[in-house]
Amino acid sequence: DQGLQKTKEGFFDKLTKVIAGKSTVDEEVLDDLENALVSADVGVDTTIKIIDGIEKRVAKDKYINTSELNRILKEEIQSVLIDSPVDTSYKSYELPSTHKPHVILIVGVNGAGKTTTIGKLAHNFTLAGKKVLLGAADTFRAAAVDQLDIWSQRAKVSIVKHSMGADPSAVAFDAVQSAVAKDMDVVLIDTAGRLHNKIHLMDELSKIKRSVNKALPGSPHEVLLVLDGSTGQNALEQARQFTGATDVTAIAITKLDGTAKGGVVLAIADQFKIPVKFIGVGEKATDLLVFDKKEFVDSLFE
Ligand code: GDP
Repeated sequence: DQGLQKTKEGFFDKLTKVIAGKSTVDEEVLDDLENALVSADVGVDTTIKIIDGIEKRVAKDKYINTSELNRILKEEIQSVLIDSPVDTSYKSYELPSTHKPHVILIVGVNGAGKTTTIGKLAHNFTLAGKKVLLGAADTFRAAAVDQLDIWSQRAKVSIVKHSMGADPSAVAFDAVQSAVAKDMDVVLIDTAGRLHNKIHLMDELSKIKRSVNKALPGSPHEVLLVLDGSTGQNALEQARQFTGATDVTAIAITKLDGTAKGGVVLAIADQFKIPVKFIGVGEKATDLLVFDKKEFVDSLFE
């Protein structure tokens, strides 16, 4: 079940209850479906899109059996995701051959799961035979550097860190420069997730990006935004803040194992048109999945 059991229960059970025993799709069924989707954190805009899609396909008060309605619902949910960009470039943790190392900047608020996601990525890239280097550019929290250090030991990968309070862009620069010198395949850079205000965040991230680019022109190649899926609609708000502050190129949604709010994945994919590349389904190194739209929807309906 891909660790999505809670979402599946929360999501699918609500929908099944609405659909159960229904033989016509009337206003009431559509309203109930709408409520079920919104309460599963699909978000109002995305829910309306799905309901409109269903409405167009079934004539009002038309006889329809439960499994047919179920199939239409699944297809409409899938079609919402189809419109969002696909990128399975990390499917087997392959990397582009156009440049080396591949530099990924990881952004997101504190507690979203950045450090853990970096640890999981380090583990997976290493398993795929890639040489990984971590950059501890969240220099504001001693715990963040310590955590990253633990992950680097666990995955047996290199790490570049400075002392607490050091300039994050200097750490990022050193990490990339060192990765170039050591012929590394991929650099994962942790950043601070303080959201004092948007200007501050924008300045901080653009400084880091500039220094990374100085160390390796063309980099960073990816800005991966990590969002805590268990916060539901709050994750959408964070996505708004970060996409407004910097060019986010990919999204990872964490903590989908412990929550029934996984519907937020649909809302995020639909509203930001930025590929969701990873989902986190636990705390272990192996608990990161490369996001696949079809598999995701299938697992909700299976
Ligand atoms: P950061 O502040 O953004 O670096 O967040 P951390 O990586 O330190 O994660 C915060 C907490 O969330 C930690 O206790 C992690 O173990 C936990 N966590 C991260 N990702 C997941 C996930 O996919 N599932 C679960 N259940 N916990 C997670």
